[in-house]
Amino acid sequence: MPHRPLRARIHLEAIRHNYRLAKQIAPAARALAVIKANAYGHGAVAVARALASEADGFAVSCLEEALELRDSGIQAPILLLEGVFAPDELALAARLDLAIVIHSRPQLRWVLESRLDQPLNCWIKLDTGMHRLGFAPEDFLEVAARLKGCPSVRAQAVMTHLARADEPAHPYTAHQIAIFDQTLAGIRIDRSLANSAALLTEPRAQGDWIRPGIMLYGVSPFVEPQVLPDGIRLHPAMTLESALIAIKELAPGEPIGYGGRFVCERPTRVGIAAIGYADGYPRHAADGTPIAVAGQLTRLIGRVSMDLLTLDLTGIEAQIGDRVELWGKQVSVGTVAAASETIAYELLAGIGRRVPLIHE
Ligand SMILES: *Cc1c(COP(=O)(O)O)cnc(C)c1O
Repeated sequence: MPHRPLRARIHLEAIRHNYRLAKQIAPAARALAVIKANAYGHGAVAVARALASEADGFAVSCLEEALELRDSGIQAPILLLEGVFAPDELALAARLDLAIVIHSRPQLRWVLESRLDQPLNCWIKLDTGMHRLGFAPEDFLEVAARLKGCPSVRAQAVMTHLARADEPAHPYTAHQIAIFDQTLAGIRIDRSLANSAALLTEPRAQGDWIRPGIMLYGVSPFVEPQVLPDGIRLHPAMTLESALIAIKELAPGEPIGYGGRFVCERPTRVGIAAIGYADGYPRHAADGTPIAVAGQLTRLIGRVSMDLLTLDLTGIEAQIGDRVELWGKQVSVGTVAAASETIAYELLAGIGRRVPLIHE
């Protein structure tokens, strides 16, 4: 039994609430719940089980992630967002009944040259402007026709990914949607464009399959919090918490921690909490980053170290053993991310292996 007080409590009911919200926004679409990267740090198997009775399917990055789900008894459709990385993965993908993305010429060739016992569901990825993975729009008809004639292929869909959907009403999103729609004009094929940000702001991106990720975890994809549409209440799914393991009284002029980044200006009561950057709390968090101690909001002071961080207890009712919330319902992970010059995605996905996930 671990005694270090650090843990991430995962609220599965919040994830179910957020999934239902995604479905309500696009009632005509099916949804692939994106649970790559261990469900953004929340535990992929537990999240998949929590959604198993209602999710239309799941999306993960790679075969290893899908294998973990199948090994745990998840039978829902699963899409590999990056497809396979070598031709010998195709047989296993077929045996596990996975759908694969095809984004490149080598992947296309592997499928065309394969002799699979069970044919695969293939999602052609179009590059409409992200310029990372995918075929050029002018190649779509040729790729689709070649897959259509291939005995290893059962069904096809087409997807694209939006580069700037988290900047609401940005013209680049309209530009990408227009390219997608023009490329597919008059063609009957399942379509998928929307990540969380597009789902929340761009009805034209709903298509046949939505792909919500970050919103399932109760986190806004937008940097500006006010962007969330009226009536959309996401429930945060992770509470990262630890406890105070020491308290110090420091005199004015005393520095705290490595490099003495923070120097006390007045008599200061300092709390030391058992969490550091090896656990996934960002080392770049600035002095002043909010932290809640025994339900009271206070601030980080001093540089975060590997296993510990220091916070201001001046004027706060607190004693050793009291609970410290790093993010959760009182402090949003987005606020911590903003104070650390990053995004909530990176913090959630970066939860350290030392942090036990408590699913409740
Ligand atoms: C990760 C991912 C998503 C989910 O994006 P969110 O911003 O987390 O909603 C959707 N589609 C693709 C291709 C992805 O890689």
